[in-house]
Amino acid sequence: MPELPEVETTRRGLEPLIVGRKIVATKIHQKQLRWEIPSHLPKTINGHKINSITRRAKYLLVNLSNGSVVMHLGMSGSISVVPSGAKLKKHQHLEIELDNNTTMRLHDPRRFGAALWQKQNETLNLLKNLGPEPLNDEFSGDILYKFSRGKKQNIKTFIMDNANVVGVGNIYASESLFVAGISPKRASGNVSKKRYQKLTRSIIDVLTRAIEKGGTTINDFKTVDGQPGYFSQSLSVYNRKDMPCKRCDGTIKKIIQNQRASYYCPKCQR
Ligand code: ZN
Repeated sequence: MPELPEVETTRRGLEPLIVGRKIVATKIHQKQLRWEIPSHLPKTINGHKINSITRRAKYLLVNLSNGSVVMHLGMSGSISVVPSGAKLKKHQHLEIELDNNTTMRLHDPRRFGAALWQKQNETLNLLKNLGPEPLNDEFSGDILYKFSRGKKQNIKTFIMDNANVVGVGNIYASESLFVAGISPKRASGNVSKKRYQKLTRSIIDVLTRAIEKGGTTINDFKTVDGQPGYFSQSLSVYNRKDMPCKRCDGTIKKIIQNQRASYYCPKCQR
């Protein structure tokens, strides 16, 4: 599943290819994604210039003068920019043609992704009530400490909750807890402020390194130019069940928390 680093990698890949271009045509080939692609989208966006592409949590916002196309990659989505008229591939559900003979295409085999419209000066409900961005200044150990008081929920599930911090998905939650030396089983309400400060630095560090490597390709994530992400080679615990710990002589363990796999070293994560 594309997580924050993969979405940010996609944003950075798209930026030089689409910003400043005018949309000349829009084709919806399959409107049934996680939510229906609004049928007015072509009429609403054709003829408008793309001013910027930004990211909030795992949503990409293609910003025009009259609003934004809000896109989500779901479980298996990717976006590519191809020469206009290139043969349409299976699962390419939405095409946005630009004024330089290129076309942006949303490819999503499992159809959990989205392409929605957000009017100027409005905020879609799904973008409301989101916690702090981990790579912005608003994110801190103090905030996590404050949000976690009185909570019995384990710390891994806690940092994967978008209300506490956005975009820390399953892979990066396991990796960040390993770097911080915190067991994923620990109750979030019992973790000290000092350890939250360490965890905050670990989350920032892990996400930043993953973005530098173009994200993590476990299954089928591809960057805008069709390359896999290379952070998979740098993973310390994720997908490493029964393998030796990279830091001590322990062995990586796999457990299930909140229906998701967690990987950790019982020896150096306390
Ligand atoms: Zn270890």
